[in-house]
Amino acid sequence: MEWEIVNSKAVTPKGVLENATIRIRDGRIVSISSGTPKDSLPIRLNLGGLFVFPGLINAHDHLLGTYLPKVGTNRPYLNWLPWDNDLKSSVVYAERQQLEPEQLYLLGSYKNLISGVTTVLDHIPHFVQTPFLERSPVRILDHFTLAHSICSYSLNWGDGPEIEYARAKEGNLPFVTHISEGFDEESREAVRYLKSIGCLGENTVLVHGIAFDSEDIKSLAQAKAHLVWCPESNLFMFGKTTSIQEVLEAGINVSLGTDSPMSGSLNLLDEIRSARNFFQKEYGKELDPKIVFRMVTENPAKALRISNDLGSLEAGKIADLLVLSSEKDDAYQALCSADLSSVRLVVRDGKPSYGDHSLKEFFDETGVVGREIKIAGTDKYLAGDPLGLLESVTRALGYKKDLAFFPVG
Ligand SMILES: [Zn+2]
Repeated sequence: MEWEIVNSKAVTPKGVLENATIRIRDGRIVSISSGTPKDSLPIRLNLGGLFVFPGLINAHDHLLGTYLPKVGTNRPYLNWLPWDNDLKSSVVYAERQQLEPEQLYLLGSYKNLISGVTTVLDHIPHFVQTPFLERSPVRILDHFTLAHSICSYSLNWGDGPEIEYARAKEGNLPFVTHISEGFDEESREAVRYLKSIGCLGENTVLVHGIAFDSEDIKSLAQAKAHLVWCPESNLFMFGKTTSIQEVLEAGINVSLGTDSPMSGSLNLLDEIRSARNFFQKEYGKELDPKIVFRMVTENPAKALRISNDLGSLEAGKIADLLVLSSEKDDAYQALCSADLSSVRLVVRDGKPSYGDHSLKEFFDETGVVGREIKIAGTDKYLAGDPLGLLESVTRALGYKKDLAFFPVG
């Protein structure tokens, strides 16, 4: 299938291209150029000057935990373990257990998709996520190795950091683990420990790092390890987050992640807002919108070792696109001020997955089957059977639950 976008503002690595034409063939970007070609392709979408970004990458989520409300009775926590115990003994967890994992995965996928995310790192052992990869409307990455965390009370995910890290190096994969998610001795020593066992390197993707000290930050920078920052979840559970300014000044590659909605934000656009609000409050200055743009596009692509295919608008890459409307003239400010109502179209693998109801004809032309749906009060068109999913959730729970990350109606 071949089609083109015309009259758009394309946010490319070289800057914002005005009056851009983006041509797409068989799921990949063929070209991005200025001006409107006379030889129109059979399917042409005129965006009337809207911004086109690469599809966003959510660098940390737990799709099985796509549920609400948040759990946090005994906040602030010493580390993640008492939170996990509170979670698993909570009424909301018992209610969540009434749903099938597939329902939670689909809810999580739609949560991400409607906020412009096309790729998610779902941090969980592979045997849990594998059955749901194919049917997910977003791309759930499965090429990674993992540990849950680096401490004696870690959940038993993977075969231990040494083996998992060796596999990552061998296969050119990211090795993903939570780290320093708390303030006990082990959390504070986790980076030193990881370094001592030879597992801190370019393949290492560390999530949280709330208890990082200056030595840890230096170690990460030297090893070229990556950090995934989840400020909303950190601030909710602990009232603190990592020393992000020092991390950025050290030149560490930082990505943003939502974590699950049971501790974190409702979606990646909200996470952007949390990150910027925290930065402004903590340091008395703005977190540069362009840096934030990179944290949800090219930085996670680099950390997760998928930048040959994803993370930027360039010829040859997979056509994952996010179209946003905005009052702002600056593209990066537009992304930072975006909410669900700004998302006008999401394209994954060169096919529309979600967008304005007025684009229904375009969906039809590209052969995508979806449903008409109202999201946050606006008429939209969404691929798959989201309404069937919600009906099945209502049947399983015995009542119609309000899920703020998927505000249908
Ligand atoms: Zn997590």
